[in-house]
Amino acid sequence: MANPMRSFKRLLAMVAHTDEVEYSCEQAHRVLDEYADCVMRGEDVTAMLPLVHKHLEMCPDCREEYEALMRIVRSGPLHPAR
Ligand SMILES: [Zn+2]
Repeated sequence: MANPMRSFKRLLAMVAHTDEVEYSCEQAHRVLDEYADCVMRGEDVTAMLPLVHKHLEMCPDCREEYEALMRIVRSGPLHPAR
């Protein structure tokens, strides 16, 4: 007979674990341009890329990186004018 309590606990552990997942700097860097893109499109990055958002709030290094990226994106040389 299966033990429903055990699988329930495992599910809880999984959910709790997922909640605690945080991006490393490397992972944040990998999606930083995508994140900046979403910000530029006015999309809700806190909903779309919550882990990146969280990381940027905690990590001054990556935030600096992000702000430098945003300056480049805003000045627009990488984006073809339409
Ligand atoms: Zn970082």
